[in-house]
Amino acid sequence: MRDNGPVPETPSSPLAAAVDLARAAAEETAGDPGVVGEHLSAASEQAGDPVLGEVLTHSFASTLPGYVGWYWAVTLARAPGEETVTVDEVVLLPGDEALLAPAWVPWHERLRPGDLSVGDVLPSTEDDPRLVPSYTVEDDTADDPEARAVATELGLGRERVMSREGRSAALTRWTGGDFGPRSSMARHAPGPCGTCGFFLPLAGSLRGAAGACGNAYAPAEGHVVTVDYGCGAHSQATLVAQEATEVVNSARYDTSEFDVL
Ligand code: SF4
Repeated sequence: MRDNGPVPETPSSPLAAAVDLARAAAEETAGDPGVVGEHLSAASEQAGDPVLGEVLTHSFASTLPGYVGWYWAVTLARAPGEETVTVDEVVLLPGDEALLAPAWVPWHERLRPGDLSVGDVLPSTEDDPRLVPSYTVEDDTADDPEARAVATELGLGRERVMSREGRSAALTRWTGGDFGPRSSMARHAPGPCGTCGFFLPLAGSLRGAAGACGNAYAPAEGHVVTVDYGCGAHSQATLVAQEATEVVNSARYDTSEFDVL
């Protein structure tokens, strides 16, 4: 709590004596008399100036839930030569022991997966490490329709594509998620996605590591699955399991290197 000095036992000015006025102002601002606690101090902000007058701040403990260590500061003023005391302002301030919010954190660092709602726009920053510059169709193919078609097929034409860091992080999330090899579904599956007819591999460098499940009866239908995930709806599950399932060792898919975008 801020040390505003001892409360004068014998108020020496109308401002120091106006504790009740200050308390009433604090209670009115708070909207609940019960959240304005004991009178803590009276600190002179400005002594009797012949031009500016006198200013003094009374402090009251705050008993607002969630505002431990805060206090109500009520500033009173008196014009030169006047006896009338007026209320300048009422504010709730943090004391030395107050619970405070953490330092400001940029919004894009505060966001968490799932925070994005319908209609929200989440622009990526220029230095987003998950993205790197790419070739655009306009770079080399502006006058060549065939080259443009090939470039489009390869996925070029975008200003930025996922960086190695971004792709690696995505694969790590997928591998550790519900549709990765460590899930209980995968551990009891008759075979891995990598040998399933419903497995639709991703394009690009992650082709050998992940894809989408296209089986309407599978829990992962429409989701990204890793090649070593699997479920009971495996396309070969009705056949002789021993023959149909080729155990896919994740080590066979070297995902540590991504050579293609
Ligand atoms: S049906 Fe099961 S095994 Fe086949 S791709 Fe989908 S999740 Fe993988």
